[in-house]
Amino acid sequence: MSTRVATSKQLALQRCIMPTCGATYDLGEVRTNCGECGSLLDIAYEWDRLPVPSHLREFEAKWTRRNDPLCRSGVWRFYELLPFAPPEKVVTIGEGQTPLMVSDGVGSFVGMKPGKLLLEYEGMNPSGSFKDNGMTAAFTHAHTIGAKRAACASTGNTSASLALYCSVSKLMQAVIFIGSGKISYGKLSQALDYGALTIQITGDFDDAMQRVREVSTRMGIYLVNSVNPFRLEGQKTIMLRVLESLDWQVPDWIVVPGGNLGNSSSFAKAFMELKELGLVDRVPRLAIINAKGADTLYELYENRGLRWNNGAPNTKITDGYYAELDAGHLRADTIASAIEINRPVNLDKCLRGLEFMNGVVREVNDQEILDAKAQVGASGLGCEPASAASVAGAKLLREQGVIAPDEQVVCILTGHQLKDPTATVAYHTSDQKEFDRVLGSRGVSRAAFANRAVQVDNDLDAIVRAIQLNS
Ligand SMILES: *Cc1c(COP(=O)(O)O)cnc(C)c1O
Ligand SMILES: [Zn+2]
Repeated sequence: MSTRVATSKQLALQRCIMPTCGATYDLGEVRTNCGECGSLLDIAYEWDRLPVPSHLREFEAKWTRRNDPLCRSGVWRFYELLPFAPPEKVVTIGEGQTPLMVSDGVGSFVGMKPGKLLLEYEGMNPSGSFKDNGMTAAFTHAHTIGAKRAACASTGNTSASLALYCSVSKLMQAVIFIGSGKISYGKLSQALDYGALTIQITGDFDDAMQRVREVSTRMGIYLVNSVNPFRLEGQKTIMLRVLESLDWQVPDWIVVPGGNLGNSSSFAKAFMELKELGLVDRVPRLAIINAKGADTLYELYENRGLRWNNGAPNTKITDGYYAELDAGHLRADTIASAIEINRPVNLDKCLRGLEFMNGVVREVNDQEILDAKAQVGASGLGCEPASAASVAGAKLLREQGVIAPDEQVVCILTGHQLKDPTATVAYHTSDQKEFDRVLGSRGVSRAAFANRAVQVDNDLDAIVRAIQLNS
């Protein structure tokens, strides 16, 4: 495959996702929404005039060229499916070296037959979450247009990722906005350590998101939140790597936690394009899992019937729900801080994706999330709380009979286990007071899979006895 680039207007552009509008913008324009109708934007390609592989297997040729950073990167080795920037402008730090693993331990917890439950471990990225897949793409675009500062609002992982790309590349300064409430120490420590300018405002993620949009517009700072359509181009490759790991076979289900709904939207875009290009013959079903304390998508999609509706979603349903949230002063609240979001910015894109992938939405509570997380820790590489929503959601869908025990299910583990050690230790600790302090207030009353430390006197015989008793 050659690497012809779609930098000219004709080969790739930004396009409004609403079919009734369809306004287009040059790749060089920095936009986070449509200037005509305010909707979200996609990156659209003129595939007919680009060198697209005729089979996904052609990407295997890149496996032998690991000395080339564009082949080693788990994002950019799929360059031909996201050719929006010249190769020499690509900023990569080796993201996307992530494994897909069968876990029969987690599978039996979920209720699957052996071999049927797979975990795509995105915690293995350089900054420890899937966000690096998107950041390398947005950062590359920012670099092509000569940005000197980049900003985001974040529950933690987006800021950790941005801060890392800035510190390693030295191409831009990172300006990150966080709320005053929950941000796990693992994530905050990354932003501080990587030297990002960190602005902590009073308020939660939804407040920080609103402010960062205003500030970026006023100060001309490049915004890398997932409203940025280039980010989702990078995140498409999570699906390509899943297919790659499955020898290019399509699984039955993709299960993913839903926060701002960028990931789920990008997965759907990946399959929309693969289908259009004839590179897959079928599409998996998508399950998006909300935390109960931040369940806007679940409420709108499953309870109030909001649908993509051929590009004309009923905005009255959404506006009405948001007005209720405001009137009741209702704030998102869950231990899964990475998905503690009440106003998902990619809602419309996600609705389109749910329709295309015949999707379902479910919600799981903090107890279910932490129990699932303990199972992932015990037999599946570990993850942070938000990631475990995918496993808890798969279990729920199994119980409801929506997922069959012999279907092939891929749960996306979005973030590394060490991102939020406070939640993990509180769950496993033998100290009931600490458990109650951190978790009790969130309705978590039991730690069914707790691995408590055994307290022993500093005495050889006592220690030997304790080991014998516990093994
Ligand atoms: C950002 C994030 C999510 C949510 O992803 P969205 O694309 O915002 O829906 C889930 N889990 C982790 C660990 C995250 O960092
Ligand atoms: Zn538009």
